Amino acid sequence: MAKRERVQLGGRVSVHDSVQEMYEHIHRDGLTNVWDRFDPQEKIRCNFCLAGVSCQLCTNGPCRISDKTDAILGVCGIDRNAMAMRDMLLRNVMGTATYTHHAYEAFRTLKATAQGKTPFTITDKDKLYSFAGQVKVDTNGSPEQVAIRLADFLNSELYRDYDEPSTMVEAFAPEPRKKLWRELAIYPAGVMHEIKDATASCLTNVDGDFVSLAKKGLRLGIACIYGAQIGLEMVQDILFGTPMPHEVEVDLGIMDPEYVNIVFNGHEPWIGVATILAARDPQVQAQAREAGARGVRVTGSIESGQEVLQRFAIDEVFRGLTGNWLTIEPLLATGTVDVFAMDENCSPPWLAPYAEKYGVTLVCVSDLVRMPGVEKHLDYKPTEVAGQARELIRLGIENFKKRHGRIKPRVPRKVQKAIAGFSTEAVLKALGGRLDPLVDVLKAGKIKGVVALVNCTTISTGPHDYMTVGLAREMIRRNILIVSGGCGNHALEVAGLASLEAAEQAGEGLREICRSLNIPPVLSFGTCTDTGRISMLVTAVANHLGVDTSALPVAVTAPQYLEQKATIDGLFALAFGLYTHLSPTPPVTGGPELVKLLTEDLEGITGGKVALGDDPVQAANGIEEHINKKRAALGI
Ligand code: SF4
Ligand code: SF4
Repeated sequence: MAKRERVQLGGRVSVHDSVQEMYEHIHRDGLTNVWDRFDPQEKIRCNFCLAGVSCQLCTNGPCRISDKTDAILGVCGIDRNAMAMRDMLLRNVMGTATYTHHAYEAFRTLKATAQGKTPFTITDKDKLYSFAGQVKVDTNGSPEQVAIRLADFLNSELYRDYDEPSTMVEAFAPEPRKKLWRELAIYPAGVMHEIKDATASCLTNVDGDFVSLAKKGLRLGIACIYGAQIGLEMVQDILFGTPMPHEVEVDLGIMDPEYVNIVFNGHEPWIGVATILAARDPQVQAQAREAGARGVRVTGSIESGQEVLQRFAIDEVFRGLTGNWLTIEPLLATGTVDVFAMDENCSPPWLAPYAEKYGVTLVCVSDLVRMPGVEKHLDYKPTEVAGQARELIRLGIENFKKRHGRIKPRVPRKVQKAIAGFSTEAVLKALGGRLDPLVDVLKAGKIKGVVALVNCTTISTGPHDYMTVGLAREMIRRNILIVSGGCGNHALEVAGLASLEAAEQAGEGLREICRSLNIPPVLSFGTCTDTGRISMLVTAVANHLGVDTSALPVAVTAPQYLEQKATIDGLFALAFGLYTHLSPTPPVTGGPELVKLLTEDLEGITGGKVALGDDPVQAANGIEEHINKKRAALGI
């Protein structure tokens, strides 16, 4: 069991100059932060845990597997492969449950909006009718009537019974996949049932077969994408508009200390959109000016920010996106944030010292989020969100009066342009409404293939976003187009790779395509939740060519994944038949048969396989080799 290696980059903690600059301030200020907390943990890191062969589920444990001490089974008798896979499945239940929480909030928000109980409107009526038609919801009547029926349908689909085929899977999965999933007994029930069954399977003395547990992981992944993710993204499109490419601004330099700054963070866009709508009221802006500010601005952080970024133009109220989750502490340390509103996931739990030192009001805006030292809770409810947004602005104005003049602002001079807002519809539009031009450039080899980079960010293998940015550069240099989602997408946006100028860094063929279509070599598809949206594009290309998804010159990479939402996306990619590169290596290496299943045998079963490796060039070599293999098999 080898220890994990970390890349050192001349003492840098991040590849982004803005984050590096702010880290140095935070460190000098003596404040706790993610980077300084890593080293003490690294010193005591357990190699059994890293390899996935430790278990603390019951009172006969904790157990670990060690050949040296003849501890070759847990006390209960579970073997090393099943121990590692069970732990992995349990983590993936968390990711799926969190996506499903988001889906439930989306569906009830759509219904409340159709009933006139929220400040939102049904923005994309065409999508409402077409999506409702695709899932066989009655499309007669007004948009509000159809939206209520659609919301009820999507909610019921979360609980779809085992014996009935899922309408969402039937509507959106490729035909060869549905057949295969039935043959393998991984065609899922509703995602709530799959969460229940996967969790129950992980109880002590229930499922001790690593192959069975792995299949449950694949079922869970399919249920998560079709039952939760696709529905919730389509609903957000219906409410706030289907993403279309437009120029935006990102990075910490977008913060202006002279404004009342409300920043929303997490994964769900409700509070952010409601606050933007409320802040557009001239009276609200006047109140801020009376308090000595230039006005009220609303800014996005991580996925909640990206959800808005891909649908809303930058204007006097909405300022853009600050960055991914490792940018949160640096953002708060700029001394410019008045309210930091946190929903669902990815608000690190020790932010109270930042609030104290840099004059920030922290507010939990989801009943999932609680944090020591944070007493302000405005838990999202669709029918109350308009008032919650006004309250956030009131808190922001009050905070500004105390912050301004007392806290010295330190804003890195870094603002980066990016093109956000790609979707299947946007790609089709850029191609003139047909997929043939994409297929033609693939056949001609101008674009060798497509990589979906769906990712978090972590510091476990090196500096913040080092691997993500390095691998993306390698890919585009080799004429491989990137569609990206999640914190990795924010990394690429901040690093300038989602800008039109980034075409200069692409290989000759990809550069030519970028210039002729006026697109960047990295298409910003949104958030980690947009894996479902990316799968719809892959499905459309596979259907167009009349082949299975596993035959396409397409791969997935999660080059700096962090947590349980990323891994369930990865399990889906394997069920979808795709080569899936993961870094860091997941905690499975203590189970050699499990490693063989994931990295070798699975390819003969679903067409998908796991590839490992923490070096950008080596990872790119593996992806390119796979894409070349698929191209040769297709005869292109
Ligand atoms: S479930 Fe089995 S392996 Fe886990 S702690 Fe209990 S006895 Fe040990
Ligand atoms: S990509 Fe991962 S780390 Fe980033 S916000 Fe989403 S869940 Fe959190």
